[in-house]
Amino acid sequence: MIAGMIGVNSTKFFIIALIPLILSIGIAPVLPFSYSEELVCPSGEIEVVRVTNPNSICIEQDTALRWTHLGIAEIVGEPVQAPVKTLEESKKVEKESTQSESKQELESTEIELPPYPDQPSIHPKLLATNDFWFPPAVHKVTDNVWVAVGYDMANSIMIEGDDGIIIVDTLSTYEKAKEVIAEFRKITDKPVKAIIYTHGHLDHVHGTGAFLEEGEDVEIYAHDSHLDFYINENSVLGPIASTRSAHVAGAFLPTEGPDRSNLGVFAPATLGTIAYVAPTQTFSDELEVEISGVKLKMVFVAGESSDQIYVWLPDEEVLLIGDNIYAIIPNIYTLRGAVYRDPMNYVNALDKMIPLDAEYLVPSHVKPVTGKENIRDILVSTRDATQYIYDQTIRGMNQGYTADELSRMIQLPEHLDNHPWLTKTRNDVSTHVKTIYYGNLGWYEGDSAFLNTISLKDRSHKIVNGFGGVDTTISSIRDAIDNGEYQWAAELGAYVLNVEPDNPKAKLLQAYVLRVLSFNSEGMDERHWLLTDARILEGKITIVPGAFTQSSPEQMAELPIEKLIKFLPTKLDPQKAAGIDTILGVTYSDIDMSFTLHVRNSILAVTDGAPESPDMTLVLDSDTHKLIVGGHLGILDAVELGQAELSGDIDDLVNFLNLFDNLSLRTNEI
Ligand SMILES: [Zn+2]
Repeated sequence: MIAGMIGVNSTKFFIIALIPLILSIGIAPVLPFSYSEELVCPSGEIEVVRVTNPNSICIEQDTALRWTHLGIAEIVGEPVQAPVKTLEESKKVEKESTQSESKQELESTEIELPPYPDQPSIHPKLLATNDFWFPPAVHKVTDNVWVAVGYDMANSIMIEGDDGIIIVDTLSTYEKAKEVIAEFRKITDKPVKAIIYTHGHLDHVHGTGAFLEEGEDVEIYAHDSHLDFYINENSVLGPIASTRSAHVAGAFLPTEGPDRSNLGVFAPATLGTIAYVAPTQTFSDELEVEISGVKLKMVFVAGESSDQIYVWLPDEEVLLIGDNIYAIIPNIYTLRGAVYRDPMNYVNALDKMIPLDAEYLVPSHVKPVTGKENIRDILVSTRDATQYIYDQTIRGMNQGYTADELSRMIQLPEHLDNHPWLTKTRNDVSTHVKTIYYGNLGWYEGDSAFLNTISLKDRSHKIVNGFGGVDTTISSIRDAIDNGEYQWAAELGAYVLNVEPDNPKAKLLQAYVLRVLSFNSEGMDERHWLLTDARILEGKITIVPGAFTQSSPEQMAELPIEKLIKFLPTKLDPQKAAGIDTILGVTYSDIDMSFTLHVRNSILAVTDGAPESPDMTLVLDSDTHKLIVGGHLGILDAVELGQAELSGDIDDLVNFLNLFDNLSLRTNEI
């Protein structure tokens, strides 16, 4: 599972600066101090002198402090203190300022909402799944295996060996990891010898830094595809994935009151420090190791993620199953969005694990299970339910049914539907059926009337007009509510809001409807999303683009250059790049690595190796790369400071870099 443990991006933009500069941090630069007497800096800025330029300039105070810290500039004049503002405070201020106007209008709107239905505000079945996840505790599985459940959305598992411990999955933040380490330290003080990632979802890997502090020369094991998977999930798709993950995890919801995140079910989504570290040991199919006297077998089994592995302890008969099973119908589709997860991968994975005949099952979410019979029942039932959904979807497709029809037709056989481990905590069968349809046939369902549709905006106008206008459509929404047709009410409400996005009555009525729908949802992801949208409509929260991120610039800076540079193409603005044919060569001098960045045909082609006839070249080292990607230096500042060696015209470089979204050309822009 991927949860909403999401770091706050303290910078204005989500920065993916991929063109590094040069600076050997270890060499103290000699500063040619001099400054102009006349220079008067505007408020909030301070005068500095840079390493390579005798003329002083004004820059923002926090930038000046960073430059000074890095040894590339000296502050001239009064020293400054960095403004102390926590990330939470920044977020709050930003939200408050953008909310106030619309909030006032909504507060002054008089609308009589229908009474809420006389029912619990959370589905009783969702509430009941609490038992799988809570309360926070370290469970002793065997004499040498413990699992921390309920401290965070995911689990962390500790295996004790002769002279050290092995950690499987590291939770979602540095702070959460520290909390669990304190619990583990009540059991043993042996150093961490190894870390194993069952997969690259952020809630399993972002606390690593805290565990590394508990040992020396710690090996980190994962599948060969782990890093590519991690980068794609958290960086290439980072901006959209972060926002959607925050929706499903309830990260935008309050921690108190009736809308609170998770309503006390499961650990609340928390913000914290991202402390991901890439694996040091990877494998393709399987890997057997002995660490501190503990025999371990790691086996690749794609399922909930394409990099998923399981860990088998043959001597203890313990199966660490990762996220392929955790008391849900396997999450073939997640509402936050993900690449297609083939259900048969889950089936094949479980077919590998069932014959192990495990005595202990330790998932990476929810409490562990003991007993061969119990475990076999859970594995076989989950396997068969997954195959059933797949088989019947394919069968129905071949009979000519559409995704819409199949999503309403296919239900699990009763004994599987009622199986205690096949909950709908994440999603129900209908969402999985649709994704199997689209995963195999794509979006076109075969009705040529909908092959090319009118825009949703146009459709909304036509439907609302057909209902007699906005006011009469709102009356129809109230009728639908009276009839208990909440889903239809929500759809009508969406059409009205497409026509009049700021209509306060429509917004408040729609929020009411979404909240009622959230009461009826067995899935926590759906519940969170509905409540989040309700609160947005009520003006209680505003989603600030870039306020949340799944990877901090500092973490991005640690990723391998050759992987990071290859998602620069997705940031190219094709209109700016129209008609441009320019080649930039980038060479990392210290690691003997070069790339050709060729803008042509409104795309950027990135290839390994230096270009034969570049228009420009940049030479830098990997430390400088880290400074830029980490958000400490703008690209052009680095060139001007002499820390990146440019062959070519600086204006041409500026033009080239401006073709991309949000690259940090100047430190002040970070
Ligand atoms: Zn997970």
